[in-house]
Parts: sequence; structure tokens; C-alpha cells
Amino acid sequence: MAVYDGFEPAIGLEVHAQLQTATKIFCGCKAAYGAPPNSLTCPVCLGLPGALPTLNKKAVEFAAMMILAVGGTVHRRSSFARKNYFYPDLPKGYQISQYEQPVGGGGSVAYQSDNGSLGVCRLSGIHLEEDAGKLLHGGEKEGTTRIDLNRCGVPLIEIVSEADLRSPDDAYSYLLKLKQLLQYVEVCSGDMEKGHLRCDANVSVRAVGQEGYGTRTELKNMNSFKAVRQALRFEIDRQIDLLKAGGKVKQVTLLWNENARRSEVMRSKELSQDYRYFPEPDLPAVEISEAWLDGIRRALPELPDARASRFVLRYAIREYDAAVLTGSRSLADFFEAVMQYFDDGRAAANWILTVLLGGLREAGQEIDACRVRPAQFDQLLDCVKDGRVSGTAARQVLAEMIQTGSDPAAIIETKALGQISDPDRLLPVVDRVLARCDRAVREYRAGKTAALKYLIGQVIRETDGRARPETVNDLLGKRLKE
Ligand code: ZN
Ligand code: MN
Repeated sequence: MAVYDGFEPAIGLEVHAQLQTATKIFCGCKAAYGAPPNSLTCPVCLGLPGALPTLNKKAVEFAAMMILAVGGTVHRRSSFARKNYFYPDLPKGYQISQYEQPVGGGGSVAYQSDNGSLGVCRLSGIHLEEDAGKLLHGGEKEGTTRIDLNRCGVPLIEIVSEADLRSPDDAYSYLLKLKQLLQYVEVCSGDMEKGHLRCDANVSVRAVGQEGYGTRTELKNMNSFKAVRQALRFEIDRQIDLLKAGGKVKQVTLLWNENARRSEVMRSKELSQDYRYFPEPDLPAVEISEAWLDGIRRALPELPDARASRFVLRYAIREYDAAVLTGSRSLADFFEAVMQYFDDGRAAANWILTVLLGGLREAGQEIDACRVRPAQFDQLLDCVKDGRVSGTAARQVLAEMIQTGSDPAAIIETKALGQISDPDRLLPVVDRVLARCDRAVREYRAGKTAALKYLIGQVIRETDGRARPETVNDLLGKRLKE
């Protein structure tokens, strides 16, 4: 853990996650990213007089899935409230959100702490709300701001944590875990660049041992997890310096300036009464029946931690490998699909994590769009196991499979990458190498056994990695005894 000179930070995070429903939360408009500005709007999401919202059931289900995934409680009855504030990206002048009766509460997120132990951050609540539009500054004409209201009414869940995080690194790990969970239950893409996931932080410091928290500030405008970590580091240092100099921390909202790497005061913080919350009169309360909740529970996939433990037990792989494999749902699915055909978990895990992922990275591809099918991957592993191809050649075969999606056998055949174990084919190569490397031969005869390894390596090189090492070893042994 970071040392703060007798001080201890307390960090809480507020994450807004866009739910990937087909339509918006209170109207039938498509909830899509990247459409021409203001093309996905209607009287409801534009807030025109007389337009009435109707709740998208799917948004409630997605929120409930995430609440279950963090071990929280789905409230059987919840309701919406109006959060009033004035901003140009908010045509109604209020946001439909939840206040006194949110859809869920409690739960926690367990993450790998920076000292290697398991950290736990409690959640104070998850609620549903609608997104606002987007302001586009500059662009075609400098000094102008345009408004795109496509995002208005896209469903969000706001996930608020307790101030349980004790370092910027822990905050970072917590966010990674939260994103992993959102992606696992497939309710949010987790894409921060597109704004599908956004994070604000509140942070205070207190003397170690002090009861209660110090005055907190709020940080906004961080566009990546790394920026969150950086902004927190900056703000913690700033507060400690201030306190040490005898000053007081003021409760303000700060904007993180990525380029200058410092925070700037945006405004003094509003209190919740400034929003003048009141019950949304146009929407009835949400009642979630036991049957509905059961259905949601059944739709929940196995979660990453549980899946990793099962991988360790069932496939006898290392804990670390299981954690990486379950890092994304598609990677874990791929591994399990391969294991339907293949029997050596460790070898499969190793080949997937090093060779396949390395090959995909080189090709600029993601596992989700991988052209190699699990059955084909199994065929390749079989070829390696039976010695039909060498490890080196198998990597070449896989690179080709990634590009073309062809079967390994076909690639081995057409590219002549199969392993050569026929002595009649290898003997001429062995003789060529022996004639060329007379020094290594002399050394070997003088008792330096390491020279044999060198000679084997030379033969394998001359065959472009295709000679079967055991056969080469036998042939060289025989020749050197003559
Ligand atoms: Zn609409
Ligand atoms: Mn919010």
C-alpha cells in the first residue's frame, strides 16, 4: 500500500454504465452509438410538452442482473424521481432518475489489491436513470458548441460505492473488476472511449487512526481508468499538502485536466437538495414479481470468480491461468470449447494464453472475432502432441489459421510444415552438418557433450525447424560413434 506520511485516503467511486438495450429507457428510439446527430430522437426523449415516458422492461432486467452479479438485493418495488438541474444537454430540464426507492442496494466488488491480497469494496446502491445528450465543442467552427441529443434517454445504471478504497491503485483494480462483471453479464460494453462507461470519484484524506472521514472533493472528467488513477494520486497529494500546511480542504467539484495533469475547480459542490428531487408523476412504481426475478436469476451466467475456481478444479490448470482465461467471457468460452475435444488442460491453457493471444495481438484481432474454431485449435494441439509438427512450426500454422481460418492439417500439407522423422530424409542433412561443423565434432569427441546439442540445433535449423529432435539425436549419436 502507498505510504502517505501518516495520512490515509478514502476513495469512493460513482460509475455510470450505459445498458446495451436495443432501445432507449423511456421511448422506442434506438439506443445506438455513432448515428448522425439528432437522428435517434422523438418527442419523448426530446422532452416535448405532452409526451409521456413508458419504461423499457429490458433496462430493468439488465439493472437487476448487475445487482445480482455483485451480490446485492433487487428491490421488489422501486420508483423514479425527477432530478432537476439546468444544462443544455438536458432538454426536459430534469433527468428521470431514482432517489428514495432505487432498483437495488448492497452488494460488493472483490478485486485484487495492490499488495496482492483480496480487497472488497461495498456498494451503497445501484439505480436506473436516463442519459443526457452530448455537447460537441468546436469541430467545424471554432468557438461554437453543438448539441447531439441521440444519447438522451439511453438507459444508465449508476453504481455508487462506499468510500472503502484506500489507494488509487485499488480504485483502478476495482474499476477493472467492475468492468469485467458488466461485460460478463453482457449488460454494458465497458467501452470508456465511447462513453459507455464513465467514472467520477470522491476522495478525502484523514490522519491514520482518525474516526470518520475528512472533507471530500469530487473529481470529474476522467476519460480512462488510468486517468482516474492519476487524478486520484494528484488530488490525494494536494489534500495532504494542504492539511500539512495547516489549511482546510473545501468541498468542491474538480475537473481533471488530462493535458496539464492537474485538477481544476469546476464549482462548489451541490447538495442533493439543490436538485429538488420529487417523485416522477408520469411513471408508475416498478414492481418486480418473484417469477420475473427468478427468470432474471436463471439468465445470469456463471460469474468470473466462480468460473475460475471451477477451471482450476475441473481442468487442473494453475490459478493464475484460470484468472486470465476468465478475464473475458469469450476467452473463457473458447477455452471450455477446446476442452470439449482436448484432454490436457494445462497445455491448452498455455497455448491459448501465449500462442493464440500473441498471434491475435499480432494480427490486430480480438478473441471475439477469432477465425480459429475451437475444434481446429484442438486439431493443432493434437498435431503437436503426436509430433506431426514441431512447436515452432505449430506457431506458423496457427498464424496462418488466424488469417485464413483454414484447418491445420491443410496448412501443414500445403506449406510443408510437417515434422520430418524419416531417417532417410534426415541423414543427408546430418552428414552435411557434420562435414561443416568439424570443430563441434572434435569438441564432442574430446568429451564435451554440450556440442551435441549445438549439432542437433544446426540440423533442425537446416530443415526450417521441421526435423524431429529425437530422430536427429539418434542419427547424430550413431554417426559420431563411427
Ligand atoms: Zn425517443
Ligand atoms: Mn447519475
